[in-house]
Amino acid sequence: MIYADNAATTKMSRRALETLISFNEKFWGNPSSLYTHGQNAKEALEQARRDIASLINAQPGEIYFTSGGSESDNQAILSAAETGKKTGKKHIVSTAFEHHAVLHTLENLKKEGFEITLLDVHSNGIVKAEDVDEAIRDDTCLVSVMYANNEIGTIQPIKEIGSICKKRGVPFHTDAVQAVGHIPIDVTGDNIDMLSASAHKFHGPKGVGFLYVKKGIRLSSLIEGGAQERGKRAGTENVPAIAAMAEALKESIGKIAEKTETLVIMRNRLIKGISEIPHSSLNGDPEKRLPGNVSFCFEGIEGEALLLLLDDRGICASSGSACTSGSLDPSHVLLAIGRVHDVAHGSLRLSIDDTVTDDDVDYIVASVKEVVEYLRGFSPIWRDLVSGKKEFIL
Ligand SMILES: *Cc1c(COP(=O)(O)O)cnc(C)c1O
Repeated sequence: MIYADNAATTKMSRRALETLISFNEKFWGNPSSLYTHGQNAKEALEQARRDIASLINAQPGEIYFTSGGSESDNQAILSAAETGKKTGKKHIVSTAFEHHAVLHTLENLKKEGFEITLLDVHSNGIVKAEDVDEAIRDDTCLVSVMYANNEIGTIQPIKEIGSICKKRGVPFHTDAVQAVGHIPIDVTGDNIDMLSASAHKFHGPKGVGFLYVKKGIRLSSLIEGGAQERGKRAGTENVPAIAAMAEALKESIGKIAEKTETLVIMRNRLIKGISEIPHSSLNGDPEKRLPGNVSFCFEGIEGEALLLLLDDRGICASSGSACTSGSLDPSHVLLAIGRVHDVAHGSLRLSIDDTVTDDDVDYIVASVKEVVEYLRGFSPIWRDLVSGKKEFIL
């Protein structure tokens, strides 16, 4: 099997898995308990907090452990909204291609009278920092722009947006779930006020993540109960998973330079090979994208069929379309970069990690070429395109 769907989830690293097991054996006490066995778990928890903080240039007191990216996004946005309600600021700036954890939370806030401005991400999949500046109003309580997009991999001008938000006095949240562990992050240098991360996207365990909240930014709690996480997130902490997350992050960040070099070479070879398919087009900027992300649209095919046939060849990939979730709507991300419905349906995302080999890349390219040609062989849309009944877009 060739696993090329690391944007969906990653395999736990050996070190993370060993930490998870050994901490379950040694540090399974409740960190809130006063005896030594509990306090040892508490110390393991605080060590993980210090490690994670230093890896993104934050202070330990600015890290809150959560169940993952979705919860972190919800908590960040709802906290800013709560503050906004109190100060009469009910306008939020975000983008059209955020993850649903952000978009659906914003959608709910609309029902509470919030106004949401979703910025255009243009055909290259990148928000313009000037657009953020223009969209900010006197009543803006939050700007939320993702660090890197989960479908097309494009990296946003976070540092520029951070400095604009700082100048304008508006809190800035970034969903960095796809970026943390994959590209260097400096929350202080980039003027980020809140940042969401998820362990299972950087070879840590599932169901655990963190939210960085800069000192001075008000955070409200989504889950009421005990006083864990300084009263901001009730529930007994999953210390082994948190420690495994810290270990996975240390490992991922430690090899960023080395793995980026390999990944960029492999990614560019995939892009070059797949681009040879007629009437195909890369989604998003070719350079300002995650080192492991390849995203394409092909005319005249269905992404779903492509995925199933790639699966038959032992390749795990993903499509931008949301058909798998029972909806026939094409991906909001692909529509946001201006892909029309028919084209957006024929999409493919490959997200590789540093275990990918040269042979894997050759095999993927050959397989995608074969499968696209095969599917076009009996596609009525393709027939119409070739006969001139319909016009090619790509
Ligand atoms: C995966 C992902 C999430 C959700 O994270 P979970 O830990 O699965 O809840 C949020 N945002 C982005 C950009 C993601 O890729």
